Amino acid sequence: MVALRRVKPYQALDLLVVALGITALLLTLPRWAADGCPLGWGLLSIPIVMLVSAFPLVLLRPGGDVEIGFDAAVLVALGVLLPHSQALVLWSIAGILSQVIASKRLWARMFNAGLVILVGGLALSIMTIIGGLGHTSAREFVAVLVGAAIYFTADWLITGLSLALESGERWHRLLFDRDLPVSMVWFLGISCIGYLAVLLPRSLPLWTLSLLTVPTIAMLVAARAVRRASEHQVRLSALFDAAKSAQGAESPSALLDSLTGHARRVLRSSHAAIRVAPPAEEEIGIRIGAEDGRWLVCAPRSAQPYDRADRRALAALATIVEESLVRMRMATEMTALATSDPLTGLANRTVFRQRIAGALEQRRPGTHVAVLFCDLDDFKPVNDRFGHEGGDVVLLTMANRLSRCVREGDTVARLGGDEFALLLANLDDPLEATRVAARVVAAAADPIYLAGRALPIGVSVGVAVDLAPSKTSKVQTRAKPVTPESIAAAASTLLGNADLAMYQAKAKGKSGYQLFAPAMRTERLSRIELLEQLRGAAGRGELLLEYQPVVDLASGVIDGFEALLRWQHPERGLLLPAAFIPLAEEAGLLTEIGDWLLPRAYADGCTLSAFAERQLNIGVNVSVRQLRDDHVLDLINGLPYHRHAPQLMLEVTESVFVEDEPYALSLLERLREHGVLLALDDFGIGYSSVAYLRNVPFTVCKIDRSFTGGLGQDPRADALCRAVLAMCESLTLPAVAEGIEDLDQVTMLRAAGCQFGQGFALGRPGDVYYARELLRNGRISLEPAAIPAPRAPRLARP
Ligand code: C2E
Ligand code: MG
Ligand code: MG
Repeated sequence: MVALRRVKPYQALDLLVVALGITALLLTLPRWAADGCPLGWGLLSIPIVMLVSAFPLVLLRPGGDVEIGFDAAVLVALGVLLPHSQALVLWSIAGILSQVIASKRLWARMFNAGLVILVGGLALSIMTIIGGLGHTSAREFVAVLVGAAIYFTADWLITGLSLALESGERWHRLLFDRDLPVSMVWFLGISCIGYLAVLLPRSLPLWTLSLLTVPTIAMLVAARAVRRASEHQVRLSALFDAAKSAQGAESPSALLDSLTGHARRVLRSSHAAIRVAPPAEEEIGIRIGAEDGRWLVCAPRSAQPYDRADRRALAALATIVEESLVRMRMATEMTALATSDPLTGLANRTVFRQRIAGALEQRRPGTHVAVLFCDLDDFKPVNDRFGHEGGDVVLLTMANRLSRCVREGDTVARLGGDEFALLLANLDDPLEATRVAARVVAAAADPIYLAGRALPIGVSVGVAVDLAPSKTSKVQTRAKPVTPESIAAAASTLLGNADLAMYQAKAKGKSGYQLFAPAMRTERLSRIELLEQLRGAAGRGELLLEYQPVVDLASGVIDGFEALLRWQHPERGLLLPAAFIPLAEEAGLLTEIGDWLLPRAYADGCTLSAFAERQLNIGVNVSVRQLRDDHVLDLINGLPYHRHAPQLMLEVTESVFVEDEPYALSLLERLREHGVLLALDDFGIGYSSVAYLRNVPFTVCKIDRSFTGGLGQDPRADALCRAVLAMCESLTLPAVAEGIEDLDQVTMLRAAGCQFGQGFALGRPGDVYYARELLRNGRISLEPAAIPAPRAPRLARP
């Protein structure tokens, strides 16, 4: 039962055909034996059948080829010349033998042998029934034609049915075909040649039979040529279609799905599949997708075994597919490049904008959409100091930390440089955005270890929330049309708002978050406006310098002054550097400002030195950007000679890694050679190491006011300040303590070995007249009451 259930319908049909064929032969054998088994010259028909059946007319069908054998010409000749039993036995032997030598599957050969006997028997029976055989007559001719037609029709029907059952093609596609009438005519024509071979020896000499050789060979060769041509045509058109659909395929899976269909068409196979196992015997296959090692395998063909042309066609098909797979892979990689950040693999700015738009468009009713704009704090110095490899480690670490702060489905993007952004969609509670922001700030605050150092990197986060539209509105308003443009604009605004809020978070002191407020937009605009106004401010005479004394802490003698820049803004009043120097630095305006400032400070220094009748130190602050070319050196070289020229001192702030700017380092050395003093400003708040202090040719170390500020209040601050001073001493660098606001600090600093001091307690910054006033006494009295108040204009808040 089990074995029976495994028999497929087409196999059942084939077996039935074989059984019927054998039965027909067996039924004939007793009569043939009764006739004395004479075969005689009829035996000649056997090699002729075997020869002719090697040249069938093959009709190519999608589910399998239909072969029409011209050997039926011999059948009609046998039917006309011999009794039914003899003709059938000879025909059966010839049919079986030609299938024995055929290079086909055993199953196909069995089926064909059975079919040949069955339909041959049928055709002979019909011819016998029509009668008139053995005598040249119209009746005999009709019998021949009808017998041949019956043979052709039965063969066509049974083969077509079997193929349809095997391949799953619709049977009428195989049976009713436009080639059917032509094939029938061809078949009848060949059968007529067989009848002619009977007629000729009846009335003419036997040798005339040889006249039939040429037309027979011509027909057989023509049949073969037709078959080859149509095989090529089918293969080519199937390959063209495969190439066309491969070009249009949208995904590798879609391409592979269509591949089996194309393989069936190209090879005219009943079945094709993609599988891991290589092709078995009689199957044909080729490896596809070199990496995953799968095979495209086609089942054996029933009619014809695969030949070289089939293998070449299959290879061509595989090449088409391979090329399309490569194209898709490249397209995928290019899309990934275009849509994601190559370093972190996060979404890039373009995709992030699209995701915001998508989140706004598809938000669940009543939910909010939030964008968190994150900018790393103090990333640039890390990149400068540890190179891009170090910077990359920090960026990757931060990308991981940020990704862990959000829910699945939220988007984390790297917008560029040290800017990241998070998109939180479908928030039920808008405050969730600030909770995530707090998580992000906390996660980023953990130190990152690089080259054995813990880097204090944090993140400033700006939060902007697009609140859910209110459900109930008392005023009936017409709904605003939502267009792709309006959604894109809303996405842009949301990102821009988060960016503005991030700036506020930074301004508030870094490592924190700030929720967007509409007032920030006007602030940002005013920043842009301020920058515009700063351009040319020096030319309009709006910039001015104030001088703060630097005092010898032992004697109170004024050693010199630090020149501090101020901007007399036409509307906002006097602005301190913090309000515009970072802006000027960002916009590259410091060179323009320096062109005015340095000669001005020098000129004032000459005045003050002349007044004091000794050379004073004049400290001028420079940004590291100004040390990237020789401009400052040229400027200093261009200063006019003056009898009372001051000693110029350039103050470079410590948070900038001069040692990682090779050009700046060589420039500082040349400045030193030109007799310019170099001060390391704000020492203690940046990253500098002792090695850094030793390598860069500084002459003075200005200790940041954060060290001085704690003096006398916190024993640990005292100890720290003493340690820093001890370090300066060991490096033989004179120290200037900044930010002395209390004269008690002077005593402590002096005791700790600090030589110079600067601070409100010793003298506030004031204009050059105020500085001259201070110099009139020659020294600062370290008594608080004796320090005069500056006559400088009143300072406005930045
Ligand atoms: P700095 O070079 O460390 O300058 C000292 C700053 O400390 C000045 O602030 C000064 O007014 C302030 N200061 C002095 N004594 C005390 C004190 O006792 N207590 C407190 N709280 N502050 C004190 P200012 O003028 O606002 O300058 C700030 C910074 O701006 C400067 O720090 C310097 O880095 C920068 N800067 C000033 N002028 C220029 C310039 O012309 N070019 C560049 N690139 N930067 C400048
Ligand atoms: Mg300074
Ligand atoms: Mg300073």
